[in-house]
Amino acid sequence: MKTDFDAIIVGGSVSGLLAAREIAEAGFNVKVFEDDLEIGLPERCDGLVSLKCLEAIGVAPTSSIVQNRIKRAVLHSPGGLTAEINAERQKVLVLDRSRFDRELAKMASGAGADIEVGQRVAKHVEENGSVKVETEASAQTARWMVNAAGYSALPRGEKSTLQAAKFEVYGDWFDRDTVEIYFDQKKAPGYFTWVIPIHSDTAKVGVAGLGVNQFKVLDEFVKAKGGVAVKKTAAQIVVGGPIERFVSGRVVSVGDAAGQAKPTTGGGIYSGGVGGVLAGRYIAESLSSGDPSKVEGYEQAWRNLFGREFGLLLRIRKILDRLDNDKIDRMFKAVASSDILGKISVESDFDHHSVAFLKALGLKNIFQIASIVAGDLLDSLRPLLKRSGR
Ligand SMILES: Cc1cc2nc3c(=O)[nH]c(=O)nc-3n(C[C@H](O)[C@H](O)[C@H](O)COP(=O)(O)OP(=O)(O)OC[C@H]3O[C@@H](n4cnc5c(N)ncnc54)[C@H](O)[C@@H]3O)c2cc1C
Repeated sequence: MKTDFDAIIVGGSVSGLLAAREIAEAGFNVKVFEDDLEIGLPERCDGLVSLKCLEAIGVAPTSSIVQNRIKRAVLHSPGGLTAEINAERQKVLVLDRSRFDRELAKMASGAGADIEVGQRVAKHVEENGSVKVETEASAQTARWMVNAAGYSALPRGEKSTLQAAKFEVYGDWFDRDTVEIYFDQKKAPGYFTWVIPIHSDTAKVGVAGLGVNQFKVLDEFVKAKGGVAVKKTAAQIVVGGPIERFVSGRVVSVGDAAGQAKPTTGGGIYSGGVGGVLAGRYIAESLSSGDPSKVEGYEQAWRNLFGREFGLLLRIRKILDRLDNDKIDRMFKAVASSDILGKISVESDFDHHSVAFLKALGLKNIFQIASIVAGDLLDSLRPLLKRSGR
């Protein structure tokens, strides 16, 4: 059956635009529908990534998208203890997320994809080896539909998200090289408040947490620190882990819509972006060969890269939800009295942080911290420790 397009992408953000670029580069006919009136806006993300992430998704770290480079992270406990991690080896960048999305749109359209903004996909129906995709203005058909519509498109029952807010703040208390993380289970249950500087007088300040009144918490934080919020945005962070199946019939889910954001931090540019790239490549392969089953390879490829890491992050997520402020302070004390931070600075990996972090900790330190958190943490970590040979 003849279709209007080879692939229709629902959502013109990082994962959808990367999928579109890959399919169009392989010579296929691609359409992207984006609900918002402008690619990249409103900006709901703070753009903290590693240089390695940009390499993996094939985007050059140009000065038009990189706002800042980070050298260290300082973590603050609820009781005022601090722990510093040197991040120089990990080459961490702060992206202008709007411009980054625009760059991806330029790459996708340069490869031949057609992008239509201000078009909300209302419905899709699968029929005879194709998908009919309906917006208010039209109905179009394609061999494949890529669901890249973010957290709102997570399947029912898999909507595990946290309330978040991000402010742009002018102030005089940031260190341009330093990302700061503040833990406080009363103010941001299960998550934290973050400060990501972009200049010495401007930072992206955000908070997320279970049931948190995000604007109130951030207003109080900024008031206590000093400064003024010149922009406020509410958003949702995806923390539930990958959905059960990325490929269902002729619909392929990527990015936040597939739960491809890290369950601990909600960071999804790398893992969701790679999801978009892989989905695009496997769809192109299936279109070239005429074999729809080739698309299944996308799911396997993504899980090979991220499955183990995300499994561990999900366990850590469950622990984070249970920690109280006293336990967090005790963990900070345990970390301060060991060589853990030095090892993490050298061995850790920004994009696969949990496995690298566990390796850096070593068994002795893991057991010390685990005894603070809860006995059942040990049981959940044991199989992983055996596999990593520690
Ligand atoms: C406050 C905050 C800060 C973050 N900071 C970071 C960070 O520093 N580093 C990091 O790696 N990650 C961060 N993330 C996570 C990151 O933003 C997401 O993982 C990433 O944007 C997911 O990309 P996506 O393309 O899958 O979905 P999204 O970026 O959510 O995009 C989905 C797109 O689909 C469109 N859409 C939705 N429904 C429809 C429809 N029916 N029809 C047409 N279009 C539709 C939306 O308008 C949107 O443009 C942050 C998230 C939040 C909320």
